[in-house]
Amino acid sequence: MTTAQPTLHDQQPTIAQRLGDVHARITAAAVRAGRDPQAVTLVAVAKTFESDAVAAARAAGQVDIGESRAQELSTKREELGDSVRWHFVGRLQRNKVADVVGAVALVHSLDRPALADALADRAQRLGIVQRTLLQVNVDDDETKAGCAPDEVLRLLARVRELPHLACLGLTTIPSMDADPRPAFAQLRALRDQAAERYPEVVELSMGMSGDFDTAVEEGATLVRVGEGVFGSRQGD
Ligand SMILES: *Cc1c(COP(=O)(O)O)cnc(C)c1O
Repeated sequence: MTTAQPTLHDQQPTIAQRLGDVHARITAAAVRAGRDPQAVTLVAVAKTFESDAVAAARAAGQVDIGESRAQELSTKREELGDSVRWHFVGRLQRNKVADVVGAVALVHSLDRPALADALADRAQRLGIVQRTLLQVNVDDDETKAGCAPDEVLRLLARVRELPHLACLGLTTIPSMDADPRPAFAQLRALRDQAAERYPEVVELSMGMSGDFDTAVEEGATLVRVGEGVFGSRQGD
């Protein structure tokens, strides 16, 4: 026993193994809540990870990939094309709208009327309907993006007036320093309320690496998991 040989325990799990683990946890959480595991879509959030990592996830069967920066989305799309289904989950500035509209299946972060107008303008120019989710700041956390809960119906009404924009559900990112479960439950209640008037509002994008099990128990239809799939993010 002179030099330490690498052992099985030194090896990081592969992306395929991590994906298997995340899926197993989604299934277990869904079963605990009496939900169909198939009703939950895993969006693997690849921000800061290289295109190679996305390609490895795709090879392991992962289709939905999230990005939170417009420039990074564009770069990876140049490298990988539309072999995956892209999602935009980050804060979106109006001057970046052209990089995102038409490039992603779903924008998870619509949170203000001016952004709705900018997205719709661009979608009209491309002759498409851009699908979005409305991001809600349920905890009223100043560091988090999202509209206030009492603005949801007004924003949905605005989107309904824009034929090139559709809003299919709600997103939230709970406060770091609180139990996320009440925030997830509140988002679901907001979705149920909104769906009475706007039946197309069905999706709930909630849950990240640290709390996606809870989110699935509380009704998430899309979970956004980064580190849980790709490993730890350096320097972010
Ligand atoms: C980075 C990010 C995620 C994934 O976070 P992890 O902690 O790596 O799972 C999810 N949603 C948004 C909006 C993000 O920016």
